[in-house]
Amino acid sequence: MIAFSDLSDDYCNIRDEVASLFSLMDAAYDTVAAEYGFVCSGCVDNCCLTRFHHHTLIEYCYLREGFSALDPESRAAIRYRARAVHAAVAREEAAGRVPHVMCPLNTYGRCVLYAHRPMICRLHGIPHTFDHPMQGKISGPGCHEFDRLCGKTTAQPLDRTRFYREMAVLEQRFRKMSGVTQKIKKTVAEILADAEAGGP
Ligand code: SF4
Repeated sequence: MIAFSDLSDDYCNIRDEVASLFSLMDAAYDTVAAEYGFVCSGCVDNCCLTRFHHHTLIEYCYLREGFSALDPESRAAIRYRARAVHAAVAREEAAGRVPHVMCPLNTYGRCVLYAHRPMICRLHGIPHTFDHPMQGKISGPGCHEFDRLCGKTTAQPLDRTRFYREMAVLEQRFRKMSGVTQKIKKTVAEILADAEAGGP
């Protein structure tokens, strides 16, 4: 478990830069989505049902910051849901099925911590490219709903390269500052289930 409260001083030093980077991602996503004419208004194959793993201490702390600002009842309810989701995902995996369990932050179709959501929640859904340092240019498709609505539209995909690079640089600085070396591979449910009982 990572103790978010122990990291708060170091996190404060980098927090505004993280927020700016996320704002740039959101703006770039909106621009590209508009060029395709894509508006996400929810779907059956909801991306909040996808088990994404998050790998940076930055995203971990940014989500936990948002969580800590909720009232105690909301925190307790989300923590309870997060543990239930974590257990349900483990059951599905043990049965050899791909888990489709709703993220504990999705309430009535809306993300409770939308402003604090991790990077992939901000970038998912529209076609994208990435200049990989070893593998060259990598391209990825949009989601099923994108294909259904805009699959025949031609536009420039979202180039994620700058965002991945800047995130990596910030992560390195934060790791150095904080001294945390532990690798992270956690779902939103696991990050929130980590939250200390009764605390932020
Ligand atoms: S953090 Fe928010 S946007 Fe991301 S999967 Fe959960 S509910 Fe959906």
